[in-house]
Amino acid sequence: MPEKSVIIIGGGLAGLSTGVYAQMNGYRAHIFEHHTKSGGVAAAWERQGYLIDGGIHFLMGHRPGQPIYDLYSELGTAQANRFLDMTTYGRFVDEASGCSVDVTGDLDRLASDLKALSPADARIVDELMAGARGMQGSDMLFEVGMGKPPELIDPLDQLRQFWGMRRIFKYFTGRYAKPAADYAQAVHSPLLRQILENLFLPEAPVWFFLMLLALLANRQIGLLERGCLDFVLPIEKRYKALGGQVTYEATVEEILVENDRAVGVRLADGSEHRADIVVSAADGYSTIFKMLGVRYTDVKIKERYRSWMLIRPTVMVSFGVARVFPDDPPLSIIMLKNPFTIGSQAIKGFSLRIFNYGAKFAPPGKTVVQAILETEWDFWNDLQKDRPRYEEEKERVATEVLVRLEAHYPNISSQVEMTDVATPYTTWRYTLNHKGAYMGWLPTPEVIMTPLPRTLPGLANFYMAGQWAMPGGGVPPCLYSGRHVVQILCRRDGKPFVGNQP
Ligand SMILES: Cc1cc2nc3c(=O)[nH]c(=O)nc-3n(C[C@H](O)[C@H](O)[C@H](O)COP(=O)(O)OP(=O)(O)OC[C@H]3O[C@@H](n4cnc5c(N)ncnc54)[C@H](O)[C@@H]3O)c2cc1C
Repeated sequence: MPEKSVIIIGGGLAGLSTGVYAQMNGYRAHIFEHHTKSGGVAAAWERQGYLIDGGIHFLMGHRPGQPIYDLYSELGTAQANRFLDMTTYGRFVDEASGCSVDVTGDLDRLASDLKALSPADARIVDELMAGARGMQGSDMLFEVGMGKPPELIDPLDQLRQFWGMRRIFKYFTGRYAKPAADYAQAVHSPLLRQILENLFLPEAPVWFFLMLLALLANRQIGLLERGCLDFVLPIEKRYKALGGQVTYEATVEEILVENDRAVGVRLADGSEHRADIVVSAADGYSTIFKMLGVRYTDVKIKERYRSWMLIRPTVMVSFGVARVFPDDPPLSIIMLKNPFTIGSQAIKGFSLRIFNYGAKFAPPGKTVVQAILETEWDFWNDLQKDRPRYEEEKERVATEVLVRLEAHYPNISSQVEMTDVATPYTTWRYTLNHKGAYMGWLPTPEVIMTPLPRTLPGLANFYMAGQWAMPGGGVPPCLYSGRHVVQILCRRDGKPFVGNQP
């Protein structure tokens, strides 16, 4: 039988993963990518001798012996990267009280630091540590529901999952299934509240917080020594080595449909390309409501896109500074004493990434320091229509950040050699993610537990992968989602799925 052809829209992590597994399984894949390079939101770029990493902060399951590591190996990226164990997740700093706490994988030390910070919260600290320790012992932690797509999970798989999770099941219910911000209301210390809310996101469930602590304690969170693009490129290389094709600067405007079957795509330049199967690993909103013209939806899908909240977009301010930071952790979360505003929003704090690990980000003796601030899509999207004002605002935000960094790193302003500001509009321009939502939907307890089908109602030969098919996004889910699509294709075509290639 001749090989079936697959068109993949988008060369982010999900599109590349779809492509690798498609090629491994006897399909002929062609990726059409909007940008000039692969990676999507896992992006890094050079400025004046500095490498700005605008993507992946840390990687889960980076050590051999875990299913996620096997996935990285199948895709050819584990072998090509050196992952560094993260021993400290981050430093939480409250400028108002002058207090700070390092969240480390040493849970005994963390418990004692948190109790010293706030004796009144001792009971809550004990409860959180017990939860993290409970999760630490579970071998199911790393692949909760990700090994197979919902379409292929049978009762035996469900039983296996249930059995594997029996010891940690309680953490997915009751008070642990609440948003972290709700749980944090009972906390006395403002800094502990900040940690609970911002270790990940205030809307994410408490169990996610516990899982992160458990992963940290198990040394299953890693840093990318050379940045996120060096994680992406080996996957692209594996895809091309397997015979996969990519066309860059190729924006899909329409998915071609005949008799309710996807048959190809039409690009912005007007050219049409046909295939047996079409996979969209691109923005979900534009796929469903633009490329397919709202023809293949149902009430549930419309409701999801109407009412699920999007991840809040960010402004990323990166500085190249002639200075080293040997004693700082790679991530700090700073709550400001003097907030400032962007648009109508008060900026009360920001995350600070210090790229003081690995040699690739800056020349010797220099460092990239990057502040990430949550902001509003509408404000930046409106402003970019007036280019001079947009540039002015970017400059102003960079100055505001620098003023605040002075309090922690005196004289830093005079050491800045490079400044780069990326806004939500920048995210959209390069990846077309709806309203700059760089990880899709906000992972609330409901959203994160809702499995989505890989297909759309009434449309044959069409599949979706990526962060709009895996609510909450993230590297492992997006990579798995490409594998899922090919697992479904193989089942449909009556052939065994081939993974794990050397
Ligand atoms: C700053 C940041 C930090 C992060 N940190 C982490 C982390 O620490 N750990 C973690 O696990 N995850 C993290 N993530 C999330 C993770 O990187 C993403 O969820 C994942 O990379 C998304 O991959 P994707 O392929 O689904 O989507 P995308 O990366 O958005 O890829 C979609 C691709 O489709 C292309 N495209 C869109 N529309 C079209 C079109 N019409 N025609 C052709 N091409 C199109 C885009 O250009 C893009 O390349 C982070 C993300 C960001 C931005």
